[in-house]
Amino acid sequence: MTVLEQFDIRGRSALVTGAASGLGLAFAEAMAEAGAGVTLTDVDGEGAEREAARLRAEGADVRAARFDVTDRAAARAVFDAHAEAFDGLDIAFANAGAGIGPGFWNASGHRNPEGQVDSYDPADWDRSIAVNLTGTYNTIREAVRLMKAGGRGGSIVATSSNAAEICEAIVGMPYMPAKAGVRHMVRHLALELAEFGIRVNAIAPGPVATNIGGGALKRDPALRAKWDSLVPLGRIAEPWQLKPLALYLASDASSYMTGSHLLIDGGMGLGKFR
Ligand code: NAD
Repeated sequence: MTVLEQFDIRGRSALVTGAASGLGLAFAEAMAEAGAGVTLTDVDGEGAEREAARLRAEGADVRAARFDVTDRAAARAVFDAHAEAFDGLDIAFANAGAGIGPGFWNASGHRNPEGQVDSYDPADWDRSIAVNLTGTYNTIREAVRLMKAGGRGGSIVATSSNAAEICEAIVGMPYMPAKAGVRHMVRHLALELAEFGIRVNAIAPGPVATNIGGGALKRDPALRAKWDSLVPLGRIAEPWQLKPLALYLASDASSYMTGSHLLIDGGMGLGKFR
């Protein structure tokens, strides 16, 4: 087998959560471009359908479904419909996530009175953990059910964050323990599922220009310049720059890798350099 053949996912299928925008959309595009059948899911069902229609027009074998990752009761039917359409499930991206609630510092460099541990609404804690941590569990749980039933193993890729390892003062605090929880859940599940040939890894991005946080990084040039200045490689990432890592983890190219939490952050986690 050649090295490029190890990246071949033609004939396989992938389900992606949070696929109407940003990284999830990039991962879905990467899977489709590499020849897999893909279900784009998102709480924004219309957005998922819009992007799926665009990819279908380009010749991809994709479908869409509305799926709120916090809705455990709805998950089973979404995954079963994927398996019905594509004869099982080989690859799952547990990607949906959101920055919820204010950080203790604001972008203009001041302490944020609304974002202190004793001032912000505890409902933000509940919501952030529900989407970013429990939603990842809800997704992986269903993917494992189908992959075990298929008997041919599989690859699960969670979207974590560099916030699992470092603290982001302008991001709502619950995001940090939620992503650190994803990081360790991936390690635990990788150990549990290795016997079934199911690999579980995480992509841990630094800042990427997506619609997260209301899309401020795409809209606000001053904010963008500030974040660019924090990255040793000189700029925050664009979603397409994470596609090759997604294909690597989804495919047999990473057949000997499980339980990893791969930072892709332009060097931000290495330490302060300014
Ligand atoms: P994004 O806002 O562009 O896309 C997120 C998508 O998830 C949206 O389409 C949204 O509708 C969907 N979504 C939100 N809540 C959902 C829910 N409950 N159920 C299903 N779908 C839901 O943001 P993004 O940056 O592409 O975020 C994708 C992942 O990347 C998240 O897990 C995020 O935490 C992570 N991440 C992003 C960055 C960054 O700087 N952009 C950095 C590190 C990690």
